[in-house]
Amino acid sequence: LKIRVSCPKCMNENIRDVSFVHVSIRDDGTYEFVCPKGHNAFVTLQEQRFEVLFDIGAHAIVDGYYREAVSSFAASLERFFEFYVRATLAENAIPDSIVDGSWRLVRKQSERQLGAFIFIYTLINRRTPKILSEQRVAFRNGVIHEGKIPTYDDAIDFGQSVLDVVRPLLLEAKQKFPKGVETTVIAHIRKASEGAPPLGRGGMTIPTIIKLNAGEASYHDTPLKDHISRIERSRHVR
Ligand SMILES: [Zn+2]
Repeated sequence: LKIRVSCPKCMNENIRDVSFVHVSIRDDGTYEFVCPKGHNAFVTLQEQRFEVLFDIGAHAIVDGYYREAVSSFAASLERFFEFYVRATLAENAIPDSIVDGSWRLVRKQSERQLGAFIFIYTLINRRTPKILSEQRVAFRNGVIHEGKIPTYDDAIDFGQSVLDVVRPLLLEAKQKFPKGVETTVIAHIRKASEGAPPLGRGGMTIPTIIKLNAGEASYHDTPLKDHISRIERSRHVR
């Protein structure tokens, strides 16, 4: 998965003559490069890890890597649960340093993180969350831990089931604790742009499939299969 990044210094100088570079997705969300006009640029991607990981999974399907797709979708779901937990704690004005300290205790074990999510959700919503079915969890474990080789249909089905878990939770989170969601997004961007030089820095957003800041509710109804077709078409155009 490569993304197209525009140079913020070119944008400042002349919006009609902006240089672009294509870069591979990075773990830290920051892109430092020299544009074709020689500017030193520093761009921060605004998307959260769960948004980016899900798109990496979709691109893996297009590329025919179904095991990798399943693994990225599963990672996206785990990071979404982390986002949900952090956003609720931020809404309740728990300082970052305390949240980070508590997260450290669950960081290495995804089962602990899932437990944290389930009970925070229950506390806030007074009901049990809908998570992946046992059958899909068994499928994921087979792929990730036992080397099972999924088909195209398996990968689509699993990705769609992750979307079906995340989307309603995301919309609900934005409604119920908008401040916490916003604070968590801003903290993520601030962390990613740490150490950026004050000049030539910029922000960027990409149209991911799970999209935190998509305004239209219908955006969240598009099936994974349609997104896969869109990615295939966009590659043909290129
Ligand atoms: Zn430039």
